[in-house]
Amino acid sequence: MLECEMDFFNRKKTKEYENMTEKLQTIIEDGSSDSAIKKAAQILRAGGLVAFPTETVYGLGGDALSPDAAAKIYAAKGRPSDNPLIVHIADTDALPILAGEVPEKARMLAEAFWPGPLTIILPKKDIVPDATTGGLPTVAIRMPSHPAALALIRESGLYIAAPSANASGRPSPTLASHVAEDLSGRIDMILDGGPVGIGIESTIVDLTGDTPTICRPGFITKEMLTSIIGNVEIDPALIHPSKDARPKAPGMRYTHYAPKGELTVVEASDPESASDPEEAKRVADTISRLALEKENEGFRVAILAAEENSMYYSRGHVITVGSVRSGVTVAARLYAALRECDEAGAEVIYSESFDGTDISDAIMNRLLKAAGQRVLHIS
Ligand code: AMP
Ligand code: MG
Repeated sequence: MLECEMDFFNRKKTKEYENMTEKLQTIIEDGSSDSAIKKAAQILRAGGLVAFPTETVYGLGGDALSPDAAAKIYAAKGRPSDNPLIVHIADTDALPILAGEVPEKARMLAEAFWPGPLTIILPKKDIVPDATTGGLPTVAIRMPSHPAALALIRESGLYIAAPSANASGRPSPTLASHVAEDLSGRIDMILDGGPVGIGIESTIVDLTGDTPTICRPGFITKEMLTSIIGNVEIDPALIHPSKDARPKAPGMRYTHYAPKGELTVVEASDPESASDPEEAKRVADTISRLALEKENEGFRVAILAAEENSMYYSRGHVITVGSVRSGVTVAARLYAALRECDEAGAEVIYSESFDGTDISDAIMNRLLKAAGQRVLHIS
């Protein structure tokens, strides 16, 4: 490992992660098999950890009402314990059991978007341990739509706390093999459901304040939420990220999703013109020039490009990320593409911008976080 890579891992991982000496035998089973779901449910009821597919990314599940299970999740991921977990449910009846107050807007959103990629933050009841909510008086709740996730929650009879099933700081897993890469030997079981559908984490909306606020953008957009409950704000710290801005969702404060190489997003003069072929060519020319310079300095370079632009590049290791005409295809490939940068040993990475696509708030939020907000605007 290069020194900068060692530094990357040392920076990202907690002491509990480093000190975890017990090596578990992680079994991988087919998430569509009834017997595998039964086995996974038993493991969860016994206090163990199971990674399972959801429609957004793979989750790392444990009993949400057990502080010990929550502690195991944090240790396995190397996740800071002040970064709360989302509680997954299979029935809206769970809402008044977990949340102290269930406002009408929560019911309306649940009716419109559950099961699906929306997480709702509400005041918590005492039954939800502080270990699960990172000490917060609120709880994040979601009903996923993936059949394996729903089957597992029902079969276990539990509420399942499940953050993304990656090692903390790594891109979220969109394949069972990504989970195995990060967490083998640290968890009891992986349910393999093949590639996930959406590819980026759920939209999080906080309903505990005066105005509903998006703490993390996702597949469910601000417009979709507004159409059901009226005025919705986006956490200002997400729109203008800076060292001083403090995002409402603790997880959005950490450098996340990062590949090991240094990633820079290269943006056209009009950031929303990503699908204009002339602008795309100008961006590609700039990236090609930068890639050549870095290769001449001896660095391994990877380029993240939309499918329709990949032909413009003759330098660097080109990794395609969906189409600029369809944000959902970009979302579905983004995390796998970031992991492929690591596999290619990329030390320097340039990415096109995917602003201007549908769900671009969600995509650009993840991409810019992966880039540590490094953006090069071409004039
Ligand atoms: P993950 O499950 O890995 O996608 O991470 C869960 C995300 O939900 C993190 O960004 C957390 O900070 C956020 N989250 C969970 N519970 C709360 C809460 N009660 N208030 C604000 N954000 C939360
Ligand atoms: Mg995560």
